[in-house]
Amino acid sequence: MKLYEFICQDCSKEFEELLQDSSEVYCPQCSSKNVKRLLSAVKTSQTDAGSAENNSACAPGSGFS
Ligand SMILES: [Zn+2]
Repeated sequence: MKLYEFICQDCSKEFEELLQDSSEVYCPQCSSKNVKRLLSAVKTSQTDAGSAENNSACAPGSGFS
């Protein structure tokens, strides 16, 4: 999960949201779905240099036959 910044286009409220894959984001102030993700992602503790997918931990590699 990553923390993103959003702005509500209905009430102009800016807020941050931890976004999972394909999850909907609602404005915490007016509950509108008409929110826009800002381009500047909030910096988290991890430095994301574009190599986050380079993770080999998803290969089980056990004897499945
Ligand atoms: Zn709103």
